[in-house]
Amino acid sequence: MARYIGPLCRLCRREGMKLFLKGTRCYTEKCAFERRKYPPGQHGHNRAKLSDYGLQLREKQKVKRIYGIMERQFKIYFEKATKMKGVTGENLLKLLERRLDNVIYRMGFAINRRQARQLVRHGYFLVNNRKVNIPSYLLKPGDVVEVFAKGKEKDLIKDNLAMAEQRGFPAWTEINMEEMKGKFLRIPERDEIQLPVHEQLIVEFYSK
Ligand code: SF4
Repeated sequence: MARYIGPLCRLCRREGMKLFLKGTRCYTEKCAFERRKYPPGQHGHNRAKLSDYGLQLREKQKVKRIYGIMERQFKIYFEKATKMKGVTGENLLKLLERRLDNVIYRMGFAINRRQARQLVRHGYFLVNNRKVNIPSYLLKPGDVVEVFAKGKEKDLIKDNLAMAEQRGFPAWTEINMEEMKGKFLRIPERDEIQLPVHEQLIVEFYSK
């Protein structure tokens, strides 16, 4: 599957905000966005005022980059969101939040979604006692995610969980630290998805 392999910090600078794509480095003074809060490239200092289209495009790119999704797949999520009951923009974010890689990140098993995706692909997780190695797998309320046997000894996952415990877990999850498992209790409400994005702009982008 296609994926972005360029420099991650460049994406934060392009979007004008921290997207937290790198893990612990994002919380330190080494963060590239903290040091250079202007877009990358030769003309980065002279960013022109964006048109309506430009604003919509940037918002879409921002969400794609946060969740690490390429255009084609993102469009499929959008089309699915339009067919669901409720507000399309919110439906889109709720669908993205249900992805297995995102839930693993939110549950604290991984430091960021990128790492979560890699761990899933390498077979470190079970969903309802069955091995699932598809990062885009959509969870349903009540599903149980568990670190597979070989992962329970992995220091990386243990350390991630310990750090996540200090930050606190989302209210829509229930984590059992000792057994290294978590329950996806329900789909989060929009105000529980703490992303500084205006999803309505994405709806306007695709509605042209
Ligand atoms: Fe973005 Fe800073 Fe993390 Fe780089 S270190 S990915 S600029 S938040």
